Amino acid sequence: MAVQVVKVRRPAQSFSSANPWLAILSGLWVSTRHFLHNLGLFMRGRQDFAIHFPEQRLVQPPALRGMPVLVQMEDGKERCVACGLCEWACPTTCITIYPAETTDEVERYPKIFDIDMARCMFCGLCEEACPEEAIVMSRQIEIASYSRAGSLWHKQDLLVPVAQLKTRTDYLRRNYDR
Ligand code: SF4
Ligand code: SF4
Repeated sequence: MAVQVVKVRRPAQSFSSANPWLAILSGLWVSTRHFLHNLGLFMRGRQDFAIHFPEQRLVQPPALRGMPVLVQMEDGKERCVACGLCEWACPTTCITIYPAETTDEVERYPKIFDIDMARCMFCGLCEEACPEEAIVMSRQIEIASYSRAGSLWHKQDLLVPVAQLKTRTDYLRRNYDR
């Protein structure tokens, strides 16, 4: 078999890359320029953007994925049927479910449903995997905790009335063809 040799054309070296001292000086100039800008000097025509949290808040976009929560139906019960699909889909294995049986029509419910928010990365895969629309990404993002135990959310903490999640469920139905 004939071997084909390809000649790679490389771009000509720029003046600064040919001279390492010039490259260092130009890097230092970029750092100095940002430093002076951050001190408030030479800011002509530049407008910085800052939100003074918590007194000020950003308007959240509809696609925002906050912490995952469990949908609580009008009768106070969870919509979850403990199928375990979200637990299986979660890439950080931060969901723990212990199913139990119920005499209700759905037959199963999660006796224990925990999410370790310290490990959750808000990817939304649990929400996508759920066939019941029982776990959704809420708009809650202020969930910092001072302890590791505080970042373990149990079922009772995770339940949110379905009416409060309407923005997200409407968004999902509009964009994910549900
Ligand atoms: S958002 Fe992602 S990481 Fe968090 S619980 Fe759901 S699947 Fe797991
Ligand atoms: S996928 Fe939905 S129904 Fe199944 S266990 Fe998770 S939250 Fe419950």
